[in-house]
Amino acid sequence: MSAIGVLGGTFDPVHNGHLRVALEMRNVLSLSEVRLIPVGRPAHRAQPIASGELRLSMLRRAVEGIRGLKVDDRELERSGDSFTVDTLASLREEVGDTPICLIIGMDQFHSLDQWHEWRKIIALSHICVARRPGSAVPTDGPVARLLSERQVSDPGRVHEAASGYIFLGAVPVLDISSTRIRALIAHRQDPDFLLPGRVLEFIQTERIYD
Ligand code: ATP
Repeated sequence: MSAIGVLGGTFDPVHNGHLRVALEMRNVLSLSEVRLIPVGRPAHRAQPIASGELRLSMLRRAVEGIRGLKVDDRELERSGDSFTVDTLASLREEVGDTPICLIIGMDQFHSLDQWHEWRKIIALSHICVARRPGSAVPTDGPVARLLSERQVSDPGRVHEAASGYIFLGAVPVLDISSTRIRALIAHRQDPDFLLPGRVLEFIQTERIYD
């Protein structure tokens, strides 16, 4: 199997920003697939509004028929807080030496040292940061030091090892958030074109955010 990508999130609901960044990173890094992994119980943020089951149903509808995007429900199957390091360890058992690329935004990368057992993350996967053109890169502190040791500029390098590199990918990042979509729905305004039509139809039928 060639390198795979992982995009974790609340996906409450999934939107075109998520889907687009997954595809952009898949293309830049030549990944065989990107797995979208909905968080079970986030440790460091408010609990999602939609249940795990509904978030999974929305994700499945979003990726239906899209080559290279997959949904992985392993965090919903696990009890207790969800930590990325545990998710990566369980994926690693499944895929052996296949390179794993953890896809995160630059905001998250800045606070990587706050993540549970953060140093283990780079031992289990590469870290591939979706970087808005012009966004600031960490220049001091532990994350900056890790970056100076591990950064690669050639995306092809992620295929040479199962884990351990950091790649900053300048990819277009759409200005869409789940928070805004939930707010639009709550105010009876139209969130069309921010998320796939079939996901929006499902949200309306099930009255998920009314
Ligand atoms: P919320 O508004 O509820 O906080 P969100 O829109 O930020 O949600 P999450 O499900 O928390 O979505 O995000 C999952 C992952 O996708 C995170 O790594 C986040 O950085 C990334 N992400 C979210 N929105 C975008 C976007 N518009 N473009 C690229 N990546 C995004």
